Amino acid sequence: MTQPKDAAARRAVKPVICYPVETLPAPNMPVYEAARQNLTKVDEVLAPARDAAVFNVPAGHFFRISSVEGSQVGDLNLWSANDLSEKFYTGKTRALHGTHITTGQQMWSSFPQLRPMATITHDTLGWYGIDEFGGSVHDVIGTRCDPYTHNLLAGGQYHHCCHSNLSRAMGDHLGITAQEAESHVHDVLNVFMCTGFTRDTGQYFMKGSPVRPGDYLEFFAEIDLLGCLSACPGGDCSDKHSSDSAQCHPLLIEVFKPADDSLEGWKSPAMNGYNRSHGL
Ligand SMILES: [Zn+2]
Repeated sequence: MTQPKDAAARRAVKPVICYPVETLPAPNMPVYEAARQNLTKVDEVLAPARDAAVFNVPAGHFFRISSVEGSQVGDLNLWSANDLSEKFYTGKTRALHGTHITTGQQMWSSFPQLRPMATITHDTLGWYGIDEFGGSVHDVIGTRCDPYTHNLLAGGQYHHCCHSNLSRAMGDHLGITAQEAESHVHDVLNVFMCTGFTRDTGQYFMKGSPVRPGDYLEFFAEIDLLGCLSACPGGDCSDKHSSDSAQCHPLLIEVFKPADDSLEGWKSPAMNGYNRSHGL
């Protein structure tokens, strides 16, 4: 293909950050850091291998997702426990924080609330950074493995993709069918998954997760949360997903209450301030 004479100059234009976060209200990390020193476990749920589990986290509590038996990635959905139409918005979280999130960054909810649902307060894989392939951990760029894409690419009927695991668990929890529940399922935070985009073709890639038993990702619930976590059929996602061929392990979810009066100055975030008139 012919290129314009000034192609190199056009490519050399410097990028600017779309959403500079300097004006984003920053979470008060020292308050969370102090509060997490004195936690009492109030609940524990295991997401079985190739399956999902539902959990509740009251606002002002912490929750942890831990690797327990072997290297395993998890697909996390979050909703406001009081209004399932308010759910985790991966796209906006990505636009604000980048392709992968870690300590100090937040999971944002859908419109019109667009507020922090959860703040990451500890990440034992925070040391990983960005590797030589452009890969990093805990992405908001993948969607979730699902049987529709699998059918499109490989044919067949596979029933333990994260999308189906989340749909079954939510159906069970809400007393509705998995088909009804799947409209609540949304794009995930890929907990412990190591992913990126290839530099040459821009394609989404995965590689074996660096997570090991004992590693965990910890969150602070900014609002009352309903969560659902699927232990992905891809296992550590080093090779395949959407089949039973990968070695898979459960993931542990634990909920913790901080000591009374330990959240000095913290308030559950209000709904977004836009007036929703849309100019009319
Ligand atoms: Zn999956």
